[in-house]
Amino acid sequence: MSDTVQQLLRENGVHVTAQRLALMRVVAEKPHATADELGDEVRSVLGAISRQAVYDSLGVLAEKNLIRRIQPAGSAARYETRVGDNHHHLICRSCRTMFDIDCATGEVPCLTADDDHGFEIDEAEVIYWGRCPPCRTAARSEQPTTLTTQNRQNTRSKT
Ligand SMILES: [Zn+2]
Ligand SMILES: [Zn+2]
Ligand SMILES: [Zn+2]
Repeated sequence: MSDTVQQLLRENGVHVTAQRLALMRVVAEKPHATADELGDEVRSVLGAISRQAVYDSLGVLAEKNLIRRIQPAGSAARYETRVGDNHHHLICRSCRTMFDIDCATGEVPCLTADDDHGFEIDEAEVIYWGRCPPCRTAARSEQPTTLTTQNRQNTRSKT
């Protein structure tokens, strides 16, 4: 597997380093992780690596399209090795858990613009936002607890 990755890097003109190989591996193992999470993983294998070095390597790999960088509004960028299939992401507003959603059309851009203003449009960025099942359950169970506490306080203040 690491031979294939080395080859992939070389074919794309990326200088092969232990850091880049390790990053490719952890990105594959932990899809949608942040740079800091990936840095921690790589550090546990290779020892000390600066945060900047991790960001730089991820930048090079993303630029060469070996990994995909996802930048959801209001949260840290995530990385994954699933590139080139124009899939989309479903993100929980509460805990930021992220799922892959296959593109309905499979081609870019999957949404046709009403007026392309003469552009050659190559991407429509689609992110589905919502609340995941655990967060929905948590939100539901929060409400009765709050009410109970309030009721208890009310009862106490009456007596
Ligand atoms: Zn959630
Ligand atoms: Zn993905
Ligand atoms: Zn799509």
